[in-house]
Amino acid sequence: MPELELSPYAVSKSARSRRVPEPAPTGRSEFQRDRDRIIHSAAFRRLEYKTQVFVNHEGDLFRTRLTHSIEVAQIGRSIARRLALNEDLVEAVSLAHDLGHTPFGHAGQEALNDCMKDHGGFEHNLQSLRVVDVLEERYAAFDGLNLCFETREGILKHCSKENAAHLGDVGERFLKGQRPNLEAQVANLADEIAYNNHDVDDGLRSGLLTLEQLGSVRLFARHLEEVRTAWPNLAERRVVHETVRHMIGTLVNDLIRQTEHNIREHAPKSADDVRIAPPLAAFSVEMLELNRELKSFLRTHLYRHYRVMRMTAKARRIIGDLFQAFMDDPRLLPPQFNLQAESDRARSVADYIAGMTDRYAIREHRRIFAIEEI
Ligand code: MG
Repeated sequence: MPELELSPYAVSKSARSRRVPEPAPTGRSEFQRDRDRIIHSAAFRRLEYKTQVFVNHEGDLFRTRLTHSIEVAQIGRSIARRLALNEDLVEAVSLAHDLGHTPFGHAGQEALNDCMKDHGGFEHNLQSLRVVDVLEERYAAFDGLNLCFETREGILKHCSKENAAHLGDVGERFLKGQRPNLEAQVANLADEIAYNNHDVDDGLRSGLLTLEQLGSVRLFARHLEEVRTAWPNLAERRVVHETVRHMIGTLVNDLIRQTEHNIREHAPKSADDVRIAPPLAAFSVEMLELNRELKSFLRTHLYRHYRVMRMTAKARRIIGDLFQAFMDDPRLLPPQFNLQAESDRARSVADYIAGMTDRYAIREHRRIFAIEEI
């Protein structure tokens, strides 16, 4: 199959050298190499046992951070191909975007951020960058994965100006008020499409959400109606899958149409023009509103469901207890996390905790606090 020609505003190759210069890869592009390094990293494998919304042991079919990241990559690649953007770059950013997540989803991130409030805070985006820049220990010649600038800037989705000032090249755009490359913008919205839809699916599967409740969400109700009209006797589980499938299609198509419109309007001629234009990858105004409605529904009915809140409370306790125990007595830390000076201890503890999977954190808590465990 002939290679698709990239748009002039796509990232065709890395414009800057890697942090540690390396010879160009043979037989694959720079961004394919980035993607391959991400897939081979320990942090990527840990995503399998990290919570998206449901703790991993709650059921085998719920999304984990790993399956979420793969879905983001799938959606991102489809969009990239249709917009003639660099698919390999979108895939690399998508697969790496959650590498810095703590165990126990957002509850874990909030708990660790609270623990770190006097030590520079904890933010999962910054941590994802720290994983690929510093924490992975796989290569002889450098720490981290030594990824391309374009991949790293895509991983750093948000950042305060205060933090950006310490981050060198990837921090610049936050200080200048510029956008990242279009591939990163696409990966970011693919993330949103993926989680809104799979959270509906997982919410229904778990029984925490019902089809009746979702009837109040226009985007869902519209597609449910279509499916029921076309397939009046379909079993409920398939109705749900068909509805979610159609919603993803609608969101992807809307995003592509609106992005094409924005590209025509702002006419970027190069990847650099994308940085100084307003955000080009976007939903239409109508879809933005429908999406907002869906998100607010999920917040109220799923993320704040009492059964999810119980898990959240447990996660806070486990992370808070572990952090305090290691800060009080660093001799409890595995030696590789107990090397830093006093002033950096909190960051080492945060790195250790953030790297844990859900079940590792639960076991570690037991090993430290339960008298019968060793
Ligand atoms: Mg995500």
